[in-house]
Amino acid sequence: MDADFSALVIERDETGRQEIALRQMAESALPGGDVTVRVEYSTLNYKDALAITGQAPVIRQFPMIPGIDFAGTVTRCDDPALSPGDRVILNGWGLGEKHWGGLAGMARVPAAWLVPLPETLSSRQAMAIGTAGYTAMLSVMALERNGIQPETGPVIVSGASGGVGSLAVMLLSRLGYRVEAMTGRPAHTAWLRSLGATAILDRALFTSPCKPLAREQWAGAIDTAGGQILANICAGMAARGVVTACGLAAGMEFPATVAPFILRGISLIGIDSVYCPRALRLEAWKRLSDLVDQGLLESLVQEIGLSDAPAAARDLLEGRCRGRLVVAIG
Ligand code: NDP
Repeated sequence: MDADFSALVIERDETGRQEIALRQMAESALPGGDVTVRVEYSTLNYKDALAITGQAPVIRQFPMIPGIDFAGTVTRCDDPALSPGDRVILNGWGLGEKHWGGLAGMARVPAAWLVPLPETLSSRQAMAIGTAGYTAMLSVMALERNGIQPETGPVIVSGASGGVGSLAVMLLSRLGYRVEAMTGRPAHTAWLRSLGATAILDRALFTSPCKPLAREQWAGAIDTAGGQILANICAGMAARGVVTACGLAAGMEFPATVAPFILRGISLIGIDSVYCPRALRLEAWKRLSDLVDQGLLESLVQEIGLSDAPAAARDLLEGRCRGRLVVAIG
């Protein structure tokens, strides 16, 4: 039977103006794909906020259902790898950009995009982690692959109060790293310490150009900011330090010099969660299900409904949110 579901739908008029509305839709309207999923939870990430507000050209075709991730249960499937009743997660693959996304009661996608929900996680917990936590895990794994261990030295995390940042602080701390959390919001100091930050750094100290080489302070870095902040982090890395770059909350540019690369041998590793190979996704979700402290995770979460998402998107971009925004569907 063709089920009805609620969805946030973004349309663009002939003048280029975007509008978002909560609509009732029929299952038959869903795009092509071999698996239909009843979505239980989705989330609001930085990219979703850019898409919903139209502040950046995230959406490649209209009308679009936003939402770059979801967790839910398979209802129909034409692929032998999955069966109705299987519990699944999706992160990225252009969801909410080129393919209808997770801010809806149902989704239809290719089977290859889905990973199984780890048995120890509920769909809500999986989305409390969401694309932010999965990206934080990919960043930690990149540090590890490049030789950074807890004993190598402290790790700096920028945008620490945000989704990726707060999960990165929690994961690094659980693994035994000393974590220096950079934030523009000192009001979150006590909370960041409760997640495991051993030092709090004022973001304002990172926003002006510094010398090509600054004091050697960190063995590793997880940067969510980009711009001058990423450049200044690179300048302050210890010899052989490793920096991962996943975000652009401070900007797209990278006004750095080659000095720390050629005089200290530091490395800069890009993190792409969207088209990340399946083996790494499976490893990241396995590690997350083992590592995440459910009590601390709950301290990161604010739960909202589908109809709250447009206002929450504006709050997120204006820096008024903390941790993770989980969207309960239905
Ligand atoms: P959030 O909005 O949850 O967090 C961003 C954080 O950055 C804020 O909480 C704030 O932390 C800090 N921040 C905000 N404005 C600025 C600014 N102007 N300069 C410096 N820091 C700022 O976003 P997410 O955690 O969801 O995403 C973070 C970044 O990572 C985004 O750019 C996002 O697009 C990117 N991303 C990339 C992925 C990938 O695959 N490469 C996947 C997921 C996210 P505080 O107040 O503590 O300083």
